[in-house]
Amino acid sequence: MADSFKQLHPLQHLAAFSPSSPSQIQPGPTPRCYPGSRQAQAEISDMETQRNPHTQLGAADLTVQLCSESLKTTSPESKAFGTVFTDHMLTIEWSEAEGWGAPRIRPFGNLSMHPACSSLHYGIQLFEGLKVYRGEDERLRLFRPMLNMKRMSKSARRVCLPAFDEVELLECIRRLVEIEQDWAFISGPSMHLYVRPTFISTEASLGVKRATRALLYVIICLAGSYFSGGSEGLSLWADPKYIRAAKGGTGDCKLGGNYGGCLAAQYEAKEFGCQQVLWLYGDDHQITEAGTMNIFLHWINEDGVEELATPPLDSLILPGVTRQSILEITRKWGEFAVSERYLTMDQLCSALEQQRVKEMFGSGTACMIRHLSQIVYKGECGRTPSDWTLLV
Ligand SMILES: *Cc1c(COP(=O)(O)O)cnc(C)c1O
Repeated sequence: MADSFKQLHPLQHLAAFSPSSPSQIQPGPTPRCYPGSRQAQAEISDMETQRNPHTQLGAADLTVQLCSESLKTTSPESKAFGTVFTDHMLTIEWSEAEGWGAPRIRPFGNLSMHPACSSLHYGIQLFEGLKVYRGEDERLRLFRPMLNMKRMSKSARRVCLPAFDEVELLECIRRLVEIEQDWAFISGPSMHLYVRPTFISTEASLGVKRATRALLYVIICLAGSYFSGGSEGLSLWADPKYIRAAKGGTGDCKLGGNYGGCLAAQYEAKEFGCQQVLWLYGDDHQITEAGTMNIFLHWINEDGVEELATPPLDSLILPGVTRQSILEITRKWGEFAVSERYLTMDQLCSALEQQRVKEMFGSGTACMIRHLSQIVYKGECGRTPSDWTLLV
């Protein structure tokens, strides 16, 4: 089956980033977080001297086991985001004693885990999300995947999971996408593949401590429109009683625990007739993010200047790849001021009153760019002008 894939869509059709020659591959940084005690430091330098090159994550060690029958028969359009998975997955095990094992691509299947795994108890885990787009030229492209690899490394440092070679992991992901590429071809034009790298502690211990065993795996699902309702504007519920992240916290890392803790607010927003939460922070009710999206305000600011504004990366904000891309593109346009700055609800409300708001939108890999049409704040409804225009 793999051979026929290759004939249909040759390797060069997958235009993802990959290292051009093995000699360019740098060994990754030391797979440790920063130990507090001198004793810990001594143990770690002993470990370092015992390490050998085979303990690094290496795409050259990749083995591939294909499934006997593809499950590509479902009609993906009717399925919700994140429910239809492709035939294979990538798994790479790590242990403190042996370093990184050989990456494996194998048939998609359940994981078997010790019930005491610290990822299940203490959220010692993280994830990423990136999309594979099929262009009009039929070629598949991963969108800026190195930025996801770098953010994944940062999340790993935050929960003391080991470092990995980002270039090598990306090459393994590229191989997985290559094997699964037919899934992108059966899906409709609005469908993409969504790649979900996941990194979990498999430490079988109830102690709250750094993992000595971990599993990095990558699965792929079909992704159409993330929110039901397609391209319509989203309504947001803004209540300062809940916060998503705190200064010095983990809101700037893609750690699973950040999301579970948001669910109650998400469902409360629905009780108020809204689709997502507008996350506020601080006594001045700073605007931070919308649901799991970064937020942008295109407005005439307090000084009368046309500006595209988004909150700065100050540890409350997840550094989105889409966010970064929007900032880079609009700065290149040079059509209006582009700022990373604080925005408060007071500023937004008076701008809405004075009709200075041109557009608000959320950004993220899953939803791409999503217009925000309505905000419920202090029991009142603030509508952005483009929503009014629709209503007229
Ligand atoms: C993933 C995520 C985003 C968007 O990041 P992208 O890299 O653009 O997908 C924004 N906010 C939160 C909280 C996220 O988890």
